[in-house]
Amino acid sequence: MIDHILSFHQQDTAETTVDCIVVGGGPAGMMTGLLLARHGVRVTVLEKHADFLRDFRGDTIHPSTMRVMDQLGIIDRFLTIPHRRMSTVAVSTPDGETVFADFSRLPEPYNYVAFMPQWDFLDFLAQEAQAFPSLELLRDAQVTDLLFDGNRVDGVRYKTPVGEKTLSARLVIGADGRHSTVRAHTGLARTESNAPMDVLWFRVSRQPDDKVPFVSTGQGFTIVAVDRGSYWQIAYCIPKGDYAELHSQDIDVVAERLNDALPVIGVRFRCEIASWDDLNLLTVSVNRLKRWHRPGLLCLGDAAHAMSPAGGVGINLAIQDAIATSRILGPVLARGETPADKLLGRVQRRRQWPARIVQAGQVRILADLYPKSIDAEYKTPRAAKVIRKSVFLQKTVARIIGIGLRPESL
Ligand SMILES: Cc1cc2nc3c(=O)[nH]c(=O)nc-3n(C[C@H](O)[C@H](O)[C@H](O)COP(=O)(O)OP(=O)(O)OC[C@H]3O[C@@H](n4cnc5c(N)ncnc54)[C@H](O)[C@@H]3O)c2cc1C
Repeated sequence: MIDHILSFHQQDTAETTVDCIVVGGGPAGMMTGLLLARHGVRVTVLEKHADFLRDFRGDTIHPSTMRVMDQLGIIDRFLTIPHRRMSTVAVSTPDGETVFADFSRLPEPYNYVAFMPQWDFLDFLAQEAQAFPSLELLRDAQVTDLLFDGNRVDGVRYKTPVGEKTLSARLVIGADGRHSTVRAHTGLARTESNAPMDVLWFRVSRQPDDKVPFVSTGQGFTIVAVDRGSYWQIAYCIPKGDYAELHSQDIDVVAERLNDALPVIGVRFRCEIASWDDLNLLTVSVNRLKRWHRPGLLCLGDAAHAMSPAGGVGINLAIQDAIATSRILGPVLARGETPADKLLGRVQRRRQWPARIVQAGQVRILADLYPKSIDAEYKTPRAAKVIRKSVFLQKTVARIIGIGLRPESL
């Protein structure tokens, strides 16, 4: 069990001012906390949940993240956590299987994507962070408001099981994901793109000899099946906004369609899913802030640029944002200085174009991977027809997903 950093509120922080507050203990927030603490920055990460055991996240750890863990000297411990290695991403289409990304062509040794439940990865980061006494992780700490000193963000107000508290800092980092509270309180404007799909999220049991493609398609859906050992975590992607129409039908409609395309999952769905209540609807957003910062505050990860699950790149971008942030701001915060707004702007300039390009790819090129209506017969996407013929493109896509467009180092 993780000890000192898992402060619960009975033994809450004695500090009322720290160098940096990170709101949100997801991939962006935990990595930012750990890396800033490595610079000696007094940093408090506030996470609204009591644990990391939530389903609504990706399970992918990318080659670039493993390289950073290698630089940090923690990769060997990371690799002892049970995980599955994926060397290619193949999509099963009506014309046969298409390899979209071939990670085996990336430089060794991290030429694969590691699949691991995200709570294991975040627990691991929390465990490693124990080496840095200047980091404190407060769970069950939901930020509800920002504190201001004039125009400058000066701290946060947060809710705990034992009441409301406040904490001040030189810098507040909003890493609280796509429904960011921090972002909502900043007045920073954002632009929305059209996400092509929403996701119905459910699990069915898994047998050791199951053969289930990672991505497959059928009438009105695309599914991604994540192997979590004893069960399949399924993302059943439907056209954006069509949930109400689907939901007005009997749940059997999903079982029948799954059965036609993927009998293994169809049969389990029929036996194990009793009603629509067993499915979670995740509405997908793709948006980004025009300006990621204002005096005293910086947004990162999905809070700055909400990613769709398409391509499985959001976690990578979030972690790359964290690395750039710690490299640019860590030394300043460690000296006890307040980072100037110009310096916060440098983080945005460094990280915004990879996020923009990847989002454009998600809503334009990858949109074709998803059905256009809940009754449409699925057709092979144009991108699949092009990519299946080109080893070069399979390697390029692997690079974009696995390493990113602008890889960061410590
Ligand atoms: C269904 C789905 C599947 C996906 N699959 C993948 C995938 O396979 N691979 C991939 O790379 N990307 C995937 N993504 C995208 C990916 O989840 C995000 O891009 C990534 O999680 C962003 O990381 P983050 O740390 O910025 O935000 P998050 O992961 O959203 O973390 C935010 C954290 O902040 C906490 N928080 C929120 N509000 C508050 C508050 N007020 N106070 C304190 N804490 C707060 C949350 O509890 C959470 O822990 C998927 C997205 C969806 C919707």
